[in-house]
Amino acid sequence: MVNPSSICSFALALPVYHRFDYQVDAAFNPQPGMRFVLPFGSGHRVGVLIAVGVSAELEENKLKPVTSLLDESPLLPAHLLELALWVADYYCQPVGEVVFQFLPGVLRKAHSAPETRQQFWRLTRTPDDEELQRIGRRAPRQLVIIQALLNSEHGLHGADLRELQTDWHQPIKSLQSKGLVSSELKPLLAESATPQIPGYTLTADQHSICQSIAPLLDEFLVHLIQGVTGSGKTEIYLTLMQQVIARGRQVIYLVPEIGLTPQLLQRLQSRLGQAVVTSHSGLTDFNRYQSWDQFRSGVVPVICGTRSALFSASEALGLIIIDEEHDASYRQQDGVRYHARDVAIKRAQMLNIPVVLGSATPSAESLHNIHKSHFRLYRLDQRVSLAQPPAIELLDCSQLPLTSGCSTRLLQAVDRHLSEQGQVLLFLNRRGFAPMVMCHECGWQSGCHQCDARLTLHQSINRLICHHCGFSMPLPQKCPDCGAADIKHYGVGTEQLEQFLQSRFAQAEVIRIDRDTVSSMQHFETRMEPVNAGRPCILIGTQMLAKGHDYPHITLVGILDADQALYSSFYRASERLIQTVIQVSGRAGRAGKKGQALLQTAFPSHPLMQGLCQQSYSELMEPILQERKLLGFPPYARVVTFQVDALELALALQKLKQLKQFVQEVSDGLTVKVIGPIPALMTRRIGRYRAQLSVMASDFQALRQLLQRLMPRLQSLKNTQKSRLTIEVDPLDL
Ligand code: ADP
Ligand code: ZN
Ligand code: ZN
Repeated sequence: MVNPSSICSFALALPVYHRFDYQVDAAFNPQPGMRFVLPFGSGHRVGVLIAVGVSAELEENKLKPVTSLLDESPLLPAHLLELALWVADYYCQPVGEVVFQFLPGVLRKAHSAPETRQQFWRLTRTPDDEELQRIGRRAPRQLVIIQALLNSEHGLHGADLRELQTDWHQPIKSLQSKGLVSSELKPLLAESATPQIPGYTLTADQHSICQSIAPLLDEFLVHLIQGVTGSGKTEIYLTLMQQVIARGRQVIYLVPEIGLTPQLLQRLQSRLGQAVVTSHSGLTDFNRYQSWDQFRSGVVPVICGTRSALFSASEALGLIIIDEEHDASYRQQDGVRYHARDVAIKRAQMLNIPVVLGSATPSAESLHNIHKSHFRLYRLDQRVSLAQPPAIELLDCSQLPLTSGCSTRLLQAVDRHLSEQGQVLLFLNRRGFAPMVMCHECGWQSGCHQCDARLTLHQSINRLICHHCGFSMPLPQKCPDCGAADIKHYGVGTEQLEQFLQSRFAQAEVIRIDRDTVSSMQHFETRMEPVNAGRPCILIGTQMLAKGHDYPHITLVGILDADQALYSSFYRASERLIQTVIQVSGRAGRAGKKGQALLQTAFPSHPLMQGLCQQSYSELMEPILQERKLLGFPPYARVVTFQVDALELALALQKLKQLKQFVQEVSDGLTVKVIGPIPALMTRRIGRYRAQLSVMASDFQALRQLLQRLMPRLQSLKNTQKSRLTIEVDPLDL
């Protein structure tokens, strides 16, 4: 007799929008969220079961049966699978790519889920002295292990035993056969938690925020804590986490990449008195999977990680916290395009749990949501230390020559702060030595042959590098065009600034933090040692350093090149500038020491520059929101951008023209604005040409409807090597 089988649809990690149907034997007991190996083309692929028993258009007997089952039970809880389908639908992303993004890398391959628990050995009883002596005489290697086990509280695992003796398998085996040792599988926690230490007594403001949120922990609501840097937001997160954990629930805590410091983990573990797992790009695939698995199985109550930690599976999720919610790193810019904050809010809504967002400088979107009463706002306007964040002073450098990007007054201030044992942070968001090299004779410029971009001079390795595609070449001795030897560099990057400051302040330590000097968190911590130790020093940093770190000894912050934002075509440029200036200047004067923040500009009378000195964040953002409203820009409108990259610009434009035609055909009765197609700002990148078409609507439902009508038609615009279409819903830029 043939077993009954059902038609199931699967998500496969392929850049296509549809699902794939297969026959599944009822004996497999198919459930959504399980992984199967499926026949595909001439080979096999992993598929995640999305729906059971859907009727397919094809006749049943034409469908191929699945090859094998990988998981006994679903790996993704039902709500997470539902969330993945929502992401695919909302962001118009290929469903399989989204579902696979929700799985840790290890599970994207055709293997059953690996065991993350480790075998631990322990003694079954305590041997008496006589027995110990006997074993010691006959098998000294066994005695060493017994003694180590006698001293261990929780037993020993493979790595511990290997430290005792390289060949530990045999003696353990013998001890096991004597019945003296037994083993069991136990989770190996990355760092056993330090004993719980009580938190601070909350300040009145912290206390009142916790009191307001605590009764609302059982319902969906977005709480936004707008608190100046150092105002004690993290302390509030910790208090709320404890309450959620006490109810037997779990917490996802998202931070921007660089915010994930060992200090933060230490603080979490010691306050909670429990181990916490992390998830970020610096971990190996297996370690990331281990964190995922330990969180999923409930061994640890908290996972702290970057963007994609949001997809951690949990059957008991009780709270999602997003620190520095305005940070652009929450938007994934390649592969599946989504915004972690917005997806977090959706997940919380599905589960009826709260989200807590925190920032000193909330995004325009979040401020808008406050105005519309979608989010609840709490404010912390005072630092815990009661020190005020420094007022920003402008340094007019329109008339003055700069030396390696620094004005004389800035250098004088650095001198003064160092002599008073302070630390200095100079912010320059450009790495390398100089952003451009040019020939003085003929005007040749160091352009990238694959991108519409200049090559940056990196003097330490004497090469020109493209920061967009990674192309690099030796710095030419002579002009490649006219042969003149008169090649000069222009502009200042962090490498040059470092070199200059080292010679100018020979007695001070100069520490440069950018992607060229810091590749991992470990690296970062080592470099920051003098800063953490409180020694007078000069810290040079790019955007990497602008994020929520606490450096109590910094007394002077200098912002070198803010003017770029004034002539940027990026519509969020002013918002970004304000956020950066406030975040960076907030690093000064934390531990009760008075801080100073200096902003160099050639446009000191520009309203934005004036505003930065005189107004609060909310005051600064008000005109920006008004302007966006007037122009019909986000957050007052929603945008979807279609981008095509192709081997030729004409091809990209042509594909988008076709797409525009589709848009016009389906936009009947919908008020939408179509912009383009136009070449992208950086048209050529990594040898491909890019163009885009944007559709805007003030009514998001109109945009949704348009997309629903449009998506089926896009099937005809096949992606090929020659031209590829990507869709971005709610892009950060236009
Ligand atoms: P934020 O997250 O807003 O930057 P933190 O929670 O990190 O602020 O607090 C800033 C500093 O103040 C930290 O060093 C923290 O240990 C300390 N702190 C926070 N809350 C209190 C409190 N209630 N009493 C004393 N110190 C506190
Ligand atoms: Zn030349
Ligand atoms: Zn390039």
